Amino acid sequence: MMHVYFDHNASTPLDPRVLEVMLPFLHEQCGNASSRHEFGTVARKAVDRAREQVAAIVGAQPAQVVFTSGGTEANNLFIRGMAAGMKPGQVAVSSIEHPCVTAPAQDLARQGWKLRKLKVNCDGRIDLNDVDAALAEKTALMSVMLANNETGVIQDVATVGERAKRAGAVMHTDAVQALGKIPVEFSALNVQALTLSAHKIYGPKGAGALVVDKRLDLRAVLTGGGQERGLRGGTENVPAIVGFGVACEIAAGRLKELGARLSGLRERLEQGLTGMGAVIFGNNAPRLPNTSYFAFRGIHGETLVIELDKSGYAVGSGAACSSTDNAPSGTLLAMGVEPELARGAVRFSLGADNSAEQVDGFLRALSGVLQRLRTMQAVAV
Ligand code: PLP
Repeated sequence: MMHVYFDHNASTPLDPRVLEVMLPFLHEQCGNASSRHEFGTVARKAVDRAREQVAAIVGAQPAQVVFTSGGTEANNLFIRGMAAGMKPGQVAVSSIEHPCVTAPAQDLARQGWKLRKLKVNCDGRIDLNDVDAALAEKTALMSVMLANNETGVIQDVATVGERAKRAGAVMHTDAVQALGKIPVEFSALNVQALTLSAHKIYGPKGAGALVVDKRLDLRAVLTGGGQERGLRGGTENVPAIVGFGVACEIAAGRLKELGARLSGLRERLEQGLTGMGAVIFGNNAPRLPNTSYFAFRGIHGETLVIELDKSGYAVGSGAACSSTDNAPSGTLLAMGVEPELARGAVRFSLGADNSAEQVDGFLRALSGVLQRLRTMQAVAV
């Protein structure tokens, strides 16, 4: 049975055009970008080209791009790398950040920083009053994601960033999920740093970037050979960086077309879901066009994911990295969703290769699974 993939917020398939550009760098073009010979020069030029492509998709200058091993490292670099040059103060992050923002912020709290979690409302949007309340106290660092990985809800980062700037806080946004799905413009967001990841945009796993305002006093977390203007030591992952660059170019070229197509498919899905009695999270807020996060009362999300998988459909249950534990989604709890309903959450995230037929097939499979599970529950009672 061919499985249909509806978990693109967890990761995306490599675009064949990306693979093609990467292949020589996995093989004969083996040069280290720091080497002085011809092989090194070819690698250096390829990394420079990728730097231009990544900068272009967010309207930044190439020199602002610091390549990392992915979104996790870029978020760690911002939080740890900024804190390294500061006295402990307040760090404010939204209560729905990815763990790779929350965990380094918690580490700062263990080192004498004050960690403040910004509230979200029931639609999954950051509470701007709480942002103001946080900024009323001297805040050194603030991080609010551009789009949430579970709900797909888009945050008003530009407004938060403007307020942060006025209050003298250094503002960062994790734009990993937003990239390739909605426009991401560094300067329009009023941030000084922004995180990107390649494998969410049909690029390879293991490449990402922190795009920074070069005036920041950012310190390296990984030190060594002084690569990336001294901000990230380590031999550049040339094939992955090259792939990331091309993936950005492809994403920028099809942003509008893809967004319109996927939001049409999502609409089709959600009409079906609503008809079956699903609760859809965050659907009153602006959302990424590809994401639908829903639950059925009385049905465990993990069970649904497993049963749907048996029927040939791959969906996610909350954040991919926390779907191994049984705790309800922190994002949904922060939105005030009852834990019982939150335990039912299933994340459906569309990608470029999905079709209306696949969505219809999914809805049929879901209907069958729900019927089976409800019959089993009725028998058990
Ligand atoms: N930030 C968000 C919002 C994400 O969804 C993810 C991946 O799930 C990451 C960061 C981590 O990125 P990476 O997998 O490149 O480390």
